[in-house]
Amino acid sequence: MALLETSGLTAHYGDFQALFGVDIRLEQGETVAIIGANGAGKTTLMRSLSGVLQNAPDMIRLDGTAIGGLSAEDVMPLGLAMVPEGRRLFPSLSVEENLLIGTYGRKVDGHWTLETIYDLFPILRERRNSPGTALSGGQQQMVAIGRALMSNPKVLLCDEISLGLAPVVIKDIYAAVPKIQESGASLIVVEQDIGQAMKVADRVYCMMEGRVTLEGTPDTLSRDDIHNAYFGVS
Ligand code: ATP
Repeated sequence: MALLETSGLTAHYGDFQALFGVDIRLEQGETVAIIGANGAGKTTLMRSLSGVLQNAPDMIRLDGTAIGGLSAEDVMPLGLAMVPEGRRLFPSLSVEENLLIGTYGRKVDGHWTLETIYDLFPILRERRNSPGTALSGGQQQMVAIGRALMSNPKVLLCDEISLGLAPVVIKDIYAAVPKIQESGASLIVVEQDIGQAMKVADRVYCMMEGRVTLEGTPDTLSRDDIHNAYFGVS
């Protein structure tokens, strides 16, 4: 049984259908990347998994439990945490206050505490009392990742964590991923940067127009496969 699994997942915004029967799975300990062009449905998939959008209960299973109908508030205590696109920090709160918000609702002991988050991103220890607004984009992203980890999730969902950041900053942030993997969390990473996705992932899904168009491991997928799945040309 997969740790997290969707079957025939659909999603709608009013009359507009954004996902059409998406089947993905995440095994314990795995990192899966979701790639695809703008509007492919990647964020909608993340919103569905994290309970921001509700679906039929059986369309999403975590550890075998049907969670598709649950809200974000109910999904989080079961072990799913999301780093949302755009970071969404509380600007007037300090780094430390933003991190502590991540413990709300899930009080499980695990690897992640303020201290281990500060070990992961030492700059946040230095800036622990700074308000969210005083941080660079990369530092804000580190807080968003730290906040999600503070709930000691089984599954960490990361939506475009490199968006809008300079290459050197992206490198710093991705340097933390192996340590997150070692902590026992399994990851789903949405990435527009295909090279980055290939480096970090055990397995990759490509989406186009609300459907999965390709699945494989980084070493078995050719550039042509990905190009075709991404842009729909053959
Ligand atoms: P991006 O990389 O631009 O974030 P994406 O792959 O994450 O793209 P989604 O944001 O999931 O794609 O969007 C999938 C489709 O759903 C798009 O056609 C988009 O216009 C539409 N969509 C997304 N959010 C909404 C919304 N709140 N209301 C209506 N349509 C939406």
